[in-house]
Amino acid sequence: MINDNGHFVISLDLELHWGFFELKTVEQYQENLINTRKVIQRLLDLSNAYNVKLTFATVGFLFAKNKDELIAFSPKEKPNYTKKELNPYALFNEIGFNEDDDPYHFGHSIVKKIVEDKNHEVGTHTFSHYYCTETGQTKAQFEEDIKAALHIANNFDLDLESIVFPRNMFNPHYLDVCHKLGIKSYRGTENASIYKLENNPNSPNITKLVFRAFRMLDTYVNLTGKHTYNLKNINTKNHIINLPQSRFLRPYNNTLRPLEKLKIRRIIRAMRYAAKHNELFHLWWHPHNFGANVDENFKNLEAIFKEYKSLNEAYKFQSETMTSLTNKVISSL
Ligand SMILES: [Zn+2]
Repeated sequence: MINDNGHFVISLDLELHWGFFELKTVEQYQENLINTRKVIQRLLDLSNAYNVKLTFATVGFLFAKNKDELIAFSPKEKPNYTKKELNPYALFNEIGFNEDDDPYHFGHSIVKKIVEDKNHEVGTHTFSHYYCTETGQTKAQFEEDIKAALHIANNFDLDLESIVFPRNMFNPHYLDVCHKLGIKSYRGTENASIYKLENNPNSPNITKLVFRAFRMLDTYVNLTGKHTYNLKNINTKNHIINLPQSRFLRPYNNTLRPLEKLKIRRIIRAMRYAAKHNELFHLWWHPHNFGANVDENFKNLEAIFKEYKSLNEAYKFQSETMTSLTNKVISSL
């Protein structure tokens, strides 16, 4: 039975500069970006030491060996965002030729490393970091994007079976496309309105700011609950399983250093609740979030993994990739 024990899922949005290129330049975020490769290696090593499974929701662009391959795999129908600054294809004129001369926009060696490790899952974060609720783009363009992601993953003999929607922009009308193309699960947002607002590009900026402040506070004190989920009640709409996120692991914050303990305590309490009540706890972040204050971030993560180990021993709390858990959910339906 799927609810005989609790489950621990970690998904990482792997995107390098493609995740925020219109907001920050490479120079503004260079330390984090340049350290991402080291961070990935440490993530693999630490997870393997604690037997924790990771799901890397990876931007399809990062699978390309070089610019020729990137262009060759790009779909003909590209997202026609009204906000032109969101179009990543416009950046193709500015990027380098391959990972050696442009480690910020190419990631072939990273994907290879994760695949060769064999303990973890590579899922998709769409081909182009696609924004599913932005105006201008269409369902047909989304489909072309996902097909390109699946196509380039063939170079690694990979089937992509889970998806994390960029910026958590969720469009329920696109789930049938995912299902048709073989994707079995996605990461939904927390069940609280302060986590849903940003999905709507039409929300007023002031409201976004207020809600962002609440989310920040919610990192340290329990404002919105534990966000653990009973898999028996999981949404299987359109035959694709929603494995909702429980918590964003915020990067180490030097200014708010005394609050770091509270942040980790809030996560550990939710993990304990999930373990004792046979529920899902789904933690997520971006590898580049760990690119500054690397040691401090890994210290926090190791505290979480130590807790996982003891909950695994006491309650059979089980680490799973998105797809290994999805397969269990499907077989118990
Ligand atoms: Zn992203």
